[in-house]
Amino acid sequence: MDRRHFIASIAAGAATLAGAGKAAAQTSQAKARVVIAGAGAAGLSVAARLARAMPNATITLVDAKKEHHFQPGLTLVGAGLWTPGYITENNADYIPSGVNWVNEAVAEFDPVGNKIVTASGKALAYDYLVVATGLKLDYAAIDGMSTDLIGKNGIASVYAGPAFAQASAQAIDTFIEKGGIGHFGRPSTEMKCAGAPLKMTFITEDKSRMKNRRSAIKLVYNAHNTTVFSVKPVNDKVIELFTKRDVAIQFGRELVAIDPGKRLATFKTAQGPVEENYDFIHVIPPMRAPDAVRNSPLPWQSGPFVADGWIEADKSSLRHPRFPNVFSIGDVAGVPRGKTAASVKWQVPVVIDHLVSLANDKSSTASYNGYTSCPLITEYGKAMLVEFDYDGKLVPSFPFIDPLQELWISWLIDEKGLIGAYRAMLRGRA
Ligand SMILES: Cc1cc2nc3c(=O)[nH]c(=O)nc-3n(C[C@H](O)[C@H](O)[C@H](O)COP(=O)(O)OP(=O)(O)OC[C@H]3O[C@@H](n4cnc5c(N)ncnc54)[C@H](O)[C@@H]3O)c2cc1C
Repeated sequence: MDRRHFIASIAAGAATLAGAGKAAAQTSQAKARVVIAGAGAAGLSVAARLARAMPNATITLVDAKKEHHFQPGLTLVGAGLWTPGYITENNADYIPSGVNWVNEAVAEFDPVGNKIVTASGKALAYDYLVVATGLKLDYAAIDGMSTDLIGKNGIASVYAGPAFAQASAQAIDTFIEKGGIGHFGRPSTEMKCAGAPLKMTFITEDKSRMKNRRSAIKLVYNAHNTTVFSVKPVNDKVIELFTKRDVAIQFGRELVAIDPGKRLATFKTAQGPVEENYDFIHVIPPMRAPDAVRNSPLPWQSGPFVADGWIEADKSSLRHPRFPNVFSIGDVAGVPRGKTAASVKWQVPVVIDHLVSLANDKSSTASYNGYTSCPLITEYGKAMLVEFDYDGKLVPSFPFIDPLQELWISWLIDEKGLIGAYRAMLRGRA
């Protein structure tokens, strides 16, 4: 097989990996009004499939954001391999024909009145609502932190967007050049792509080796609880790799304050606040549902998802138990796993099947199993293709790829395959 065909087969495999080919079987001729809040990975994909499944429906996407970012690529921009332009597109190019786009944020969700209100005060009534607003990166919750600091004084954060990821790549290079101590970690809230904090640690470590500067830097990973990853075999493997590569792990620590002038970070621990000097720090903020969602009746009223306002949802159907004409999908859904773009691929056909069934006065048995995936880069040219379900069971898509081995083929899927599969997903074609 030549290189071009090999890469094409990897792209096809990546599409399979993320649930390709699970087209909604059902259609409906109902003249329903469907509002989709959020035109990110989940919102665009739902719009594309729904436009085909419900040709007579009035479908309206509501989102103020004009640019679309391939967020899984942020770590590769942070690694210095991709440019911001490579992962930035226009949302308008992905809005399916016949779907209306209201280019504003939703300011208010009123599931009792079956309407949403936009930032300019426009009310939109619906028969069905799909909430796909993603999540809010709460940088302000870290005392002293703001996105303006990214790329300065040793502060990096690839989460904030493509330009910030590029500034983070430069901050990593400067750190490696000058030497010193670098801190990594994650928030204690739910987060999207929980592998990314680990990826950024591995990338920095490997880059320092490639530049013959490993002995000039000390690396510390601050875990928010007693593990570095919630899936046990992955956790054990990462700890083994960190130990081998001399990355120190401090458990039970969460970044709560930063003093950029003094290069001082404060971590919350069970024993009280602990201060650490740093030369470099990769900041990942707490993540919560966007304010308009949190301030609405949609979030859970009890249980672990209340504090951060995640939307109440049946974990199999993603349907709201109290407002049965409302679905949540993607990062905003209050389900135990699933905050990755790969999860979105599996969630979309399920939501479409339930929504179309509802419109046809039928019921659906389609079910989402919590599929979550994040190729875990462990060095330049190597990754572990980690896929798991709600139970934390590893569910590999490729029988010939060991999820706990650092492999070039897993890297290739991440670097070459996923972006094509993602774009096909946005068009409802994968
Ligand atoms: C650094 C990083 C690395 C990642 N790596 C991977 C990976 O390797 N593999 C993987 O599968 N996933 C990865 N992800 C996660 C993945 O990108 C997200 O899980 C996915 O984008 C979720 O899709 P979404 O539609 O829920 O949210 P988003 O794609 O974030 O879209 C949400 C949309 O809602 C809009 N919105 C927000 N508030 C409102 C409002 N009030 N009204 C209307 N619209 C609103 C936003 O403007 C946005 O357009 C990564 C993410 C990051 C940040």
